[in-house]
Amino acid sequence: MIVTVNPATGRPIAEYPLHSSADVEKRIAGAYDAQKSWGKKPVSERVTLLNNVAEVLRRHKARYAATITEEMGKPIAEAEAEVEKCAVTCEFYAESAGKFLGDTQVSSNATDSRIVYDPLGVVLAIMPWNYPFWQFIRFAAPALAAGNGALLKHANNVAACAIQLEELFREAGTPEGLVSTLLINASDVAGVLADKRVAAVTLTGSTEVGKIVASQAASLMKKQVLELGGSDPFLVLADADVELAAKMAVKARFSNTGQSCISSKRFIVDATVADKFVGLFVEGVNQLKTGSPTDRNNTIGPMARENLRDALHAQVERSVQEGATLVTGGRAVDSEGYYYLPTVLDNVTPQMTAAIEETFGPVAAIIRVQSEEEAIAVANNTEFGLGAAVWTGDVENGYRVARRIEAGAVFVNGLVASDPRLPFGGIKQSGYGRELGELGIREFTNVKTVWIG
Ligand code: NDP
Repeated sequence: MIVTVNPATGRPIAEYPLHSSADVEKRIAGAYDAQKSWGKKPVSERVTLLNNVAEVLRRHKARYAATITEEMGKPIAEAEAEVEKCAVTCEFYAESAGKFLGDTQVSSNATDSRIVYDPLGVVLAIMPWNYPFWQFIRFAAPALAAGNGALLKHANNVAACAIQLEELFREAGTPEGLVSTLLINASDVAGVLADKRVAAVTLTGSTEVGKIVASQAASLMKKQVLELGGSDPFLVLADADVELAAKMAVKARFSNTGQSCISSKRFIVDATVADKFVGLFVEGVNQLKTGSPTDRNNTIGPMARENLRDALHAQVERSVQEGATLVTGGRAVDSEGYYYLPTVLDNVTPQMTAAIEETFGPVAAIIRVQSEEEAIAVANNTEFGLGAAVWTGDVENGYRVARRIEAGAVFVNGLVASDPRLPFGGIKQSGYGRELGELGIREFTNVKTVWIG
């Protein structure tokens, strides 16, 4: 049985019986059979589905957003924006998939040689709760356009989102079974992955689980895309527009109550502007309003689960014991629900917990540095490599710095964000493979060479 809990109150929302092994078998078989026909349809036909999905997303935006907020606690306006982004991404692939998946002619000594992009089959999607609609749609829109089927194992704390996702694809006219939700425990995922009818796996979640799934997929020789944790640096160089950087830093760290893989987590600030930056940043943080995520005046909701809040608080306590200065926040809100006050830690060093570990919640770590060289070294001194931001008055130098940062994406004078037009993913412990853009749609294809003499 899955019991979902409203993180704003700590009270149960609903109970969902887990799928039996017969249900799971039926769903795998359904996805497998549906994909066989789906994969043979021309891309032009497949993408019409995506326009329908976009239309259904917008039609039920209010209901989907309410479910997201109820199950994982993000402020309602952010939930609505999440659903809208899903619709935009479906439309992007509806328009671009034909171009991305068209044959690529390559000259060789053949009469005709080309690369074609065939579907792989049914892809298992293991997804997290932090963007419960977006994480799945970001994978599913390109994967379905490429002719694949999808089995969704969602985080169990967002079971209603998982069910609504399946229903929305059905309402949009997806062939029966092609997109199917599995209500199963994490311990049953390995069995699904091992099934011969499952061709590949994509996971968004923790590095710890990424390693487990990666080794299982490797032993089965199945293709995988892993989008894991991050500890993104936010570099404020000496010549940055400090007012703007501080304002954007608040968004970069505290959107989604800080629970994003690409939230900026380590603010690496040149000592010459650090006092000014910290003053403005803390002023911005103190203006955030923590409270019920359904109240549109609030900008910080509860954390998604109690254990996640406890783990975050333990990281803050360890960092303070190690010598970090607690500037604001640093404790749970004394009320029902899993609220944690927006927190700023100053004088963090690269050896402290807040710099080493991923802090998945509303906690910012400020690391003061003496030079640009040191800023780059500190930025790269992490086991993660997802995103990074560089704030500077000299964009040409910003580009040079960006090239030296070990991450899947570096934004100069901008907030790190996913964009359906651009590839998204990480290096190092943040995973491998890419989602979105042209590269993302190719991940779950057989990039096939056809050579004609
Ligand atoms: P997990 O990595 O545990 O969960 C992500 C998904 O993996 C869920 O669907 C989960 O299912 C599933 N899962 C868990 N264990 C296994 C397993 N052994 N085999 C297959 N699937 C499994 O994340 P948590 O929710 O526990 O969050 C913990 C930390 O992970 C966060 O604090 C954060 O650091 C990181 N994280 C990163 C995210 C990102 O966007 N990159 C998103 C969410 C978390 P179930 O819910 O049933 O356990």
